[in-house]
Amino acid sequence: MERHQVLARLNETHYAYQQALKSSDKLIALSQLQTATLTESMQRQPEIDCRNGCAKCCNIRVMVFPHEAVAMYFYIKAKLSKAQQVVIEERLHQSADKIAAMTEQEHLTTNVPCPMLIAESCSVYPARSLACAGYHSTDVKQCVQSYKTPTDLSGFIPQLKNVQQMQQQLVGISYQVLQQNKAAADKVEMIGALSAIFRQPSLINKWKRGRAMFKLTLKQH
Ligand code: SF4
Repeated sequence: MERHQVLARLNETHYAYQQALKSSDKLIALSQLQTATLTESMQRQPEIDCRNGCAKCCNIRVMVFPHEAVAMYFYIKAKLSKAQQVVIEERLHQSADKIAAMTEQEHLTTNVPCPMLIAESCSVYPARSLACAGYHSTDVKQCVQSYKTPTDLSGFIPQLKNVQQMQQQLVGISYQVLQQNKAAADKVEMIGALSAIFRQPSLINKWKRGRAMFKLTLKQH
């Protein structure tokens, strides 16, 4: 994005964040505002190898902003069937407990399927995080290899510089908006954060007051 576009997006996101503090629908709309730009940009790039039904990358550790975890929680509660909610919540707690017993390095080298992945598709797609929305690959063979050998961190997933740059700009805007709102801005591990919100929905009140919602252990990058 050009400088004037970044400034316009900053103002737009600041307004959207303040609305999001008042309504769960507006919080989901904030996620959509952030991720739609990335999605549209990626759809115009034929070099990207990502296709529907491929979800190899939905097994890796994902770090999200607290408000992104809250948006996913509200989306699951409002948009998914009761049966899906039960399945996701059970998987979230199981996976969160498994991750809590690992070091960050162990999690980085272990495939842990995302609990929101249903039939190889993201069930919270409209409310997914910037980290998920911007992740992509120009070589699916590398993704398969990485999935098969998660302990081997020597190979890297090739990505497009312009998409990575846009993602970084949007993440930077999020940090600035959180600072403007005097809100806690530490990213947290997604599965543990969502599991914690399901176990204790009153944590959302902390987010609304700009306070840290989660224990330090979720904040490791
Ligand atoms: S939230 Fe969606 S896109 Fe992100 S890891 Fe989970 S299933 Fe994949």
